[in-house]
Amino acid sequence: MTNRIPPRSGTAFELKKGQLLTVVDPEGEQVSDLVAYNAEDTREYLSSGRSIDYAGRMFLTTGDILYSNRSVPMLKIVEDEVGRHDFSLTPCSRDTFRIIYGDKDPHHGCQGNLENALAPYGIGPDAIPTAFNVFMHVAVDSDSGEIKVLPPKSKPGQKTVFRAEMDLIIAMTACSAGQSNNFRYKPIDFRIDNAA
Ligand SMILES: [Zn+2]
Repeated sequence: MTNRIPPRSGTAFELKKGQLLTVVDPEGEQVSDLVAYNAEDTREYLSSGRSIDYAGRMFLTTGDILYSNRSVPMLKIVEDEVGRHDFSLTPCSRDTFRIIYGDKDPHHGCQGNLENALAPYGIGPDAIPTAFNVFMHVAVDSDSGEIKVLPPKSKPGQKTVFRAEMDLIIAMTACSAGQSNNFRYKPIDFRIDNAA
């Protein structure tokens, strides 16, 4: 069964070890901020720094492992039709829209949507790490480190598949930031399958 995350919203769910999470960009050029916690101990969470360090690359794709803050594998990317994601930027938030976009009445963004989705699991705002930003296209200048957020490379219907390496609580969004999705807010679809 395919689940739809409406534009500018989020959701959370459990993903058991061995299950596959397929994230689909139904209309193209949309981003989903994804965070994960150990279902048994939510102080263990997805770590951008450790994952990038161990992969030796900024941009992760098929075969790469997303590690926890305790250096334990949480998710493995087992299939990737897009091949470009970001694991360096925090979820967009009221402050993102205030500081970067100059909005007077800013939307609560992915941060607010993740907070709302994770509250029933007892996970608070300060426990939300740098997300794995599925389909987010961030270009980095190799000398200055200057970053540019570009439209995602994802085409309508393209997907990336993750396998859970432990029992997890996952939260995901359909991103609310204009730069991330080429200034058109769109949904994100996902599906959970048991391993074959
Ligand atoms: Zn966002």
